[in-house]
Amino acid sequence: MSGWPVDAPSPLWMTLSREHFTAPALNGEIAADVVVVGGGIAGLAAAIELRRRGRDVVLLEAARIGWGASGRANGQVISALTRHGPEAIRKHWPGARGERFIELVRGSADHLYALIERYGIDCDARRVGWLQPAHTPGRARRVAGLARQWAQAGAAAAPVEAAEMARRLGTDSYRGGWEHRGGGHINPYAFTVGLARAAASDGVRIFENTPATRLRQHGTGWVVETPSGQITAGKVALATAAHTGTLWPALRRSIVPVTSYQAATHPLGPLADTILPNDEASSDTRMDLRYFRKDRDGRLVSGGALAIQIGAARRLPALVAERLAEMFPLLPAAPMQHFWGGRIAMTTDRLPHLHRREDGLCAWIGCNGRGLALACAMGPVLADAVEGVPDDELALRPTKPATIPFHAIVARFARLILVWYRIKDGREI
Ligand SMILES: Cc1cc2nc3c(=O)[nH]c(=O)nc-3n(C[C@H](O)[C@H](O)[C@H](O)COP(=O)(O)OP(=O)(O)OC[C@H]3O[C@@H](n4cnc5c(N)ncnc54)[C@H](O)[C@@H]3O)c2cc1C
Repeated sequence: MSGWPVDAPSPLWMTLSREHFTAPALNGEIAADVVVVGGGIAGLAAAIELRRRGRDVVLLEAARIGWGASGRANGQVISALTRHGPEAIRKHWPGARGERFIELVRGSADHLYALIERYGIDCDARRVGWLQPAHTPGRARRVAGLARQWAQAGAAAAPVEAAEMARRLGTDSYRGGWEHRGGGHINPYAFTVGLARAAASDGVRIFENTPATRLRQHGTGWVVETPSGQITAGKVALATAAHTGTLWPALRRSIVPVTSYQAATHPLGPLADTILPNDEASSDTRMDLRYFRKDRDGRLVSGGALAIQIGAARRLPALVAERLAEMFPLLPAAPMQHFWGGRIAMTTDRLPHLHRREDGLCAWIGCNGRGLALACAMGPVLADAVEGVPDDELALRPTKPATIPFHAIVARFARLILVWYRIKDGREI
């Protein structure tokens, strides 16, 4: 497993969560139909689905449930990809393949909120919409087109004029944009541990502090080795995202793990009524993305990335505070109260990928920073892949993991692309 330092600052969401979950580490030898590796939303959603189909499922989490990106996200529920709208998806995957994938993305937030409802997950869930404000007039025109494409595909999406966007955000820093009324926000940590509680109550056997250290073929199935035990299983599904290590080396080399940080203000009091008065979530059109939402106590939670990470705990909150102050001049000049970060799995085409080998090893990877809803929708797809649903019938056709050329160098220096993003954002019209 490769990843985030275990002593990294915990997300604010952990403190605010009323959902709690703990599981023992594996000690000894057991058997199962399927082992799911990764205790984030994707692994849990896949495990829940496999269990519903009657499989005996074991889920392994190297650290604690929600320790990965799922517990560290900003919590925006977005059923749209970062780059590809319906037209671009159809170009990439013509015919039924593209339509199936559009339907998966379109329905991904429905899927997330349905899980919350089904299992009564207490995660401050709000389905109040998601906004993408445009930072230039050119971008406003482009995203208005995107809104129309998603509306044609059946989503509750529409362009938003500049004046209306200013009213909805509480700032006139933007030139319009679009809204997706099916989106919203959640406490992502509470959602993840709530999913773990649900999975365990459905009969999934979960082990925390149990990294899968090696996969060994055994007859027609697998042995999954861990530091103090092992599992014999017919199939293995990896949902290890940006923390993917050497279990499937080609999978690790198919993504670039990128670090993203979060910071939160203190509760804003009455000022919270003027910022995002309808309480939507918001992420803008910049490549060096700016996004913000309020938590249940009226803190403004926002984040960003850094090209150079030295001193991140001091520099990132200062950067976020400066950007928020530009947008909301009435914000008091107080330091940010909470700081944490996490890792995102980026693919070069900015699309998620499903992989399946003939020997029963499956994986999905590539949330590209918009994975809360997507991971929920991909859970059943990963379950389908494990169950042997034919390639042509899967919502995402399996491919072989494609190694990114000069992966080690790219992974090390990928964050420097942020400098180029900032120049591009600044030049856009
Ligand atoms: C700072 C930040 C902000 C974000 N904000 C948003 C947002 O607002 N909206 C949105 O849609 N998306 C957001 N994202 C992206 C979103 O969080 C992810 O797409 C999503 O959580 C991915 O879920 P996952 O289950 O695939 O991966 P993860 O939650 O990362 O889970 C992978 C798990 O696998 C475990 N693991 C790895 N290797 C092993 C092993 N060998 N054995 C056992 N366990 C292993 C890890 O410990 C980890 O817990 C954000 C991400 C970050 C980092």
